[in-house]
Amino acid sequence: MVDIEDAGLALKRYFGYGAFRPGQEDLVKAVLGGRDCLGVMPTGAGKSICYQIPATLLDGLTIVISPLVSLMKDQVDGLEDAGIQASFVNSTQDMDEQALSLAQAAQGRSKILYVAPERLDAPRFRDFAQRTRISLLAVDEAHCVSQWGQDFRPSYLGIGDFIRSLPERPVVAAFTATATEKVRRDIVYMLGLNDPYVAVTGFDRPNLFFDVIKLETKDKNRWVARYALKHQDDSGIVYCATRKETEALADDLTKVGVSAVSYHAGMDAQARERAQRDFVNDKVQVVVATNAFGMGIDKSNVRYVIHHNMPESIEAYYQEAGRAGRDGEPARCSLLWNESDIVTRRRLLDMDNGNERLTGDQAEAVRAEHRRLLNVMIGYCRTTGCLHRYMLRYFGEEVDQAAAGLSPAEAGKGESIPVGHHDMNKEGKGEGDDHVGCRNCSNCLSTFETIDVSEVARAISRCVHDVNQGFGSGKIAQILRGSRSQDLLRRGLDRCPSYGSLSDIPEARIRDVLNQLASDGYLSITEGRLPMVHFGPKAAQTVSPDFHYEIKRVERPRALVAVEDQASGKVYGGAASSVAEEDGLDQAGASEAGPEDEELFQKLRDLRTSIAREIGKPPYIVFSDKTLRDMCRLRPTDDSTFLAVNGVGQHKLEQYGTRFMEVVAGFSSKSGTEAQEG
Ligand code: ADP
Repeated sequence: MVDIEDAGLALKRYFGYGAFRPGQEDLVKAVLGGRDCLGVMPTGAGKSICYQIPATLLDGLTIVISPLVSLMKDQVDGLEDAGIQASFVNSTQDMDEQALSLAQAAQGRSKILYVAPERLDAPRFRDFAQRTRISLLAVDEAHCVSQWGQDFRPSYLGIGDFIRSLPERPVVAAFTATATEKVRRDIVYMLGLNDPYVAVTGFDRPNLFFDVIKLETKDKNRWVARYALKHQDDSGIVYCATRKETEALADDLTKVGVSAVSYHAGMDAQARERAQRDFVNDKVQVVVATNAFGMGIDKSNVRYVIHHNMPESIEAYYQEAGRAGRDGEPARCSLLWNESDIVTRRRLLDMDNGNERLTGDQAEAVRAEHRRLLNVMIGYCRTTGCLHRYMLRYFGEEVDQAAAGLSPAEAGKGESIPVGHHDMNKEGKGEGDDHVGCRNCSNCLSTFETIDVSEVARAISRCVHDVNQGFGSGKIAQILRGSRSQDLLRRGLDRCPSYGSLSDIPEARIRDVLNQLASDGYLSITEGRLPMVHFGPKAAQTVSPDFHYEIKRVERPRALVAVEDQASGKVYGGAASSVAEEDGLDQAGASEAGPEDEELFQKLRDLRTSIAREIGKPPYIVFSDKTLRDMCRLRPTDDSTFLAVNGVGQHKLEQYGTRFMEVVAGFSSKSGTEAQEG
């Protein structure tokens, strides 16, 4: 029997990693010991290694079932580049190619074979499986077997049968990033896992900088453009809510010189495929996409993900934002939002009739659940506490309970997170301050001021009453401010009892409060071309004598503010400082690269790009950003130092070592001379 030491050696030899990450080692051990297992790990945690390493050590074949057909080629390319023989069979191949892949696997010339679940039913594949010794069956995205999840795939239901049909039962290892208990139970049951070893690893992604920015809709595109321009060399994804927005923003970005494409389900398959390829191959830097983008993306060097709108749930946000920084290097996840986004989301939700097969009651239950999820998302936008911690609490993870102010019982449950505006506000100032601060989210770097706006809120509500719910928010603000506009006077609105009652409050503040009142259900804003402000279900509370209402004002440190200030057209008054400093990443304790390292990094990156073009594979498959960074640090000029670089295995050394070491040597001698001359 192989033991865990062999696994460690294989990890170094093929992947160039010095140690397993949390969770990996025990899962590998379980598989090698012949035990079924279930790995629940977030995206980027390194699930693949858990079956790829055993695959290199086990006698027979490892079959990997994955729904992501578009990813298989990249995965196989990556394995072959690491020196592990692998192949795939799927619908993108013709019959001959499929036969070739199967023959190769049957003869033991592939250690790993990727297949889509639909394949398991094909007679030819069944026949192959009867004749081939299969040691391990790995089920990726295992939550697709559960009807509770969003990604249910009927074809996953056939996996259990397939396993039972095999002459010799292989070890079965299932992997997912979905954390809920229900889904987990389904996986064990539906796949027929046999007393599985279950590993659940941390959902925190410490290399991600989480950032929440409240920004008016009209300022958002400009913000994104500035950001993308400042990070021209970085890969980024921008998520928008609608197809139209993706196209408009991609256009805006292209106009200012950012290399960007849009991606959404309305584009034809070819155009989508091209956009995805170009992004993966670093030919374009930015994809502006709807949530249709990302499932089939394994690109490890995405340096930022910007949400142009608030997503519908924390799960969705965590999944989409989590596509940043899979290589473990610092990356940034920015969420742009405003109160009217909330109003729009709520409206979409109310209109959603979802599945036609549902009865009225069922549909309402589904909507109620979606509302709950949305409320938690809104809480994320409004919280003044640590954003990392907010998410972890949502996923029900053990966190520092004393600091988080939760009882142990509560901390274990995802449901226990307070929802809705007021609960989260309570968490605000007090608790936001008493935690130590992760230094890696905008809230932990900012200070907050809570402003009592009860009077403003009451006046707005009174004004809506005065005008009989017959005007939009612009007019209401004008009336309250006592505007002398012709239109207003002509309509006699200056005779309203509330006319001029907020003359000393800036219009932006009035609008802010009005929008927040709408998203909290005190008011509601109608649809259509001329949206009007009506009363919401909680309107009556605003006239109660103990009605109290607050908004939050954020004071972001200069380092964080710079980019936004520029985006909203204000002049940034400081001396030019480095990009890293301005976007707060350095402050977050992220990158420590000096200018010289940066220059070498660029050179190594250029070499990576040319090699990728030569071999026709994505650059990140040659080496990840993390590996290049480590190369800058170690500056290897001999084989053993090169092997010590994180992510360099034996096969990579043989393939690329000479060329990368040449660049390092050339650079070091040049900078050495300059130092002497200087
Ligand atoms: P997942 O499937 O869980 O989303 P991947 O398997 O794609 O994650 O791994 C994410 C990244 O982490 C990959 O670039 C992978 O090479 C890297 N990685 C995995 N395990 C380790 C490890 N033990 N040490 C260093 N890097 C690792």
